Amino acid sequence: MSWGDLTPELLHSSVWADGLVESAGIPVYDMPLVSVGGGLGSFTLVDVLRVSGVAASAMRVLSNSDSPWQTWEYLTRVSQLPAHERIRSDSGARPDNIWGFPSYAVQEAWQERSLKPLLQVLTEPLMADFYSPKSAMVTWSVRREADRIGYWEMLAKGQVRMVRKRLGGGYFTVLTPPSGSGPTKRVVLRSRYVHLAVGYPGLKFLDDLQEFRQRQGERYRVVNAYEPHEHVYDQLRKRPGVVVVRGAGIVASRVLQRLMDDRERYGLQTQIVHLFRTYVTGAHGPHLFMRRKGGGGWAYQAFTMPKSAFGGQLKAQFRKASPERRARLAGLVAGTTTPKLARWQEQLHRARQGSWYHAVQAVVERIDQAPDGRLVTYTRSANSAGMQYASDFIIDCTGLEADMPEHRVLDDLLKHGGARPNKAGRLQVGPHFEVLGAESDGGVLYASGAATAGNHFLAVDSFLGMQTAALDIADDLARRGFCKGLGPFRSVSQWLKWVANRRLA
Ligand SMILES: Cc1cc2nc3c(=O)[nH]c(=O)nc-3n(C[C@H](O)[C@H](O)[C@H](O)COP(=O)(O)OP(=O)(O)OC[C@H]3O[C@@H](n4cnc5c(N)ncnc54)[C@H](O)[C@@H]3O)c2cc1C
Repeated sequence: MSWGDLTPELLHSSVWADGLVESAGIPVYDMPLVSVGGGLGSFTLVDVLRVSGVAASAMRVLSNSDSPWQTWEYLTRVSQLPAHERIRSDSGARPDNIWGFPSYAVQEAWQERSLKPLLQVLTEPLMADFYSPKSAMVTWSVRREADRIGYWEMLAKGQVRMVRKRLGGGYFTVLTPPSGSGPTKRVVLRSRYVHLAVGYPGLKFLDDLQEFRQRQGERYRVVNAYEPHEHVYDQLRKRPGVVVVRGAGIVASRVLQRLMDDRERYGLQTQIVHLFRTYVTGAHGPHLFMRRKGGGGWAYQAFTMPKSAFGGQLKAQFRKASPERRARLAGLVAGTTTPKLARWQEQLHRARQGSWYHAVQAVVERIDQAPDGRLVTYTRSANSAGMQYASDFIIDCTGLEADMPEHRVLDDLLKHGGARPNKAGRLQVGPHFEVLGAESDGGVLYASGAATAGNHFLAVDSFLGMQTAALDIADDLARRGFCKGLGPFRSVSQWLKWVANRRLA
């Protein structure tokens, strides 16, 4: 252990006294509010707080990312949503604009001098697919807003190690700055308020794939769609091959689209075996008002949640519901879905007619390697028939989210910070996204994003979900005197500043 590092006493104490930190030689900086993460969740909160009158000097964003969009941009790019592709959100879900107006469609119409995006939002979803912005537009607009609110002055780079309660109120957040950037290995921020938005705890692999990867030390042929796997498409361009795709969500549909685009563009002979665990044959749901379209294995839905979960009836019902009713409602709307987009449907229709796309409902029992190095997927279907599929690659499009204890800061919070897991295995939070059990004598620890799933709001892991959390947190902070309330007058005057791209003081 070196001077300025965590001592065994600090590591083992759940509540730290000022003297304990000082005696370890760790520099302590006072900052009223820190947001841990520095992705879109942190960005949205500091944006709302800046609009609510908080000075940039009163907040720090602690992050290992250079920009708020870095992780999102990386995950969208590797999962086949590069800058020019359209994402899943609607026109008004703008992380850079809490008013949602002008929407992305209006902005695109203006920038491209085209009426097409406007016509699309006017006729969606009956005569056109829902409008979605291009991925590049999201990053462009977040960058513009980050410049406007002075985000870069608030950003402190480094890896957050833990957040511990402070004796006397508030918290200590331990940051490991990039190596060589300071005199000590760690610094500590002492604050009254902490916000956690650390995104997904990590990648989650299917058990059989994980087991195979570990057993064989295999990282090349068996890939997760959320890790870089461009080599798969490169190889298929050089040599015809078979790919097993697993999953039925938006990422599976994008990966299929990429494989089909490459077949068409380069005249490839790629064969696709698409494994569905649950094969949807048609519309499904309990009654007329809660039905989802489906077919060919897929469940169709425009957004990750029904639209009313973001800001309508379902959101209100959910907020008021008892835990039992919430669990029931969540069960009804849960499930893997993908938007039914016209171009992709046409491609899939052609694929089904060809002899190179094979949709199969089956449960995978194990993966093995054939003597020639190819992969063999052993499956069992509903009628217990066993089948084997030999392939050159397997792309797992089933999941992104690992369990909460896999994230060091969240794990520490459960062990030392008083936080409690809810039934979904995420953090229990109150109506203002305050982490229950983690209060510290007037200090409050808030959280937003994936870590808060399974509470009073369904759509936590979305742009609109981030904004809902940010607005609720800002309301609570206004009540506590940290910022001004966002009443009609302030809101209109701030919107005008946003429109004029006026830099906030
Ligand atoms: C492929 C994909 C497409 C999506 N498309 C849409 C869409 O179209 N519409 C929509 O509404 N939502 C979409 N989402 C969801 C949306 O991206 C998330 O809701 C949002 O990014 C979550 O923000 P966050 O801040 O919680 O996490 P992130 O944006 O992931 O940021 C978390 C940050 O915390 C940092 N971090 C973690 N631990 C530490 C630590 N210990 N120390 C320092 N830094 C740390 C990470 O490096 C990361 O930068 C999509 C998600 C994915 C993966």
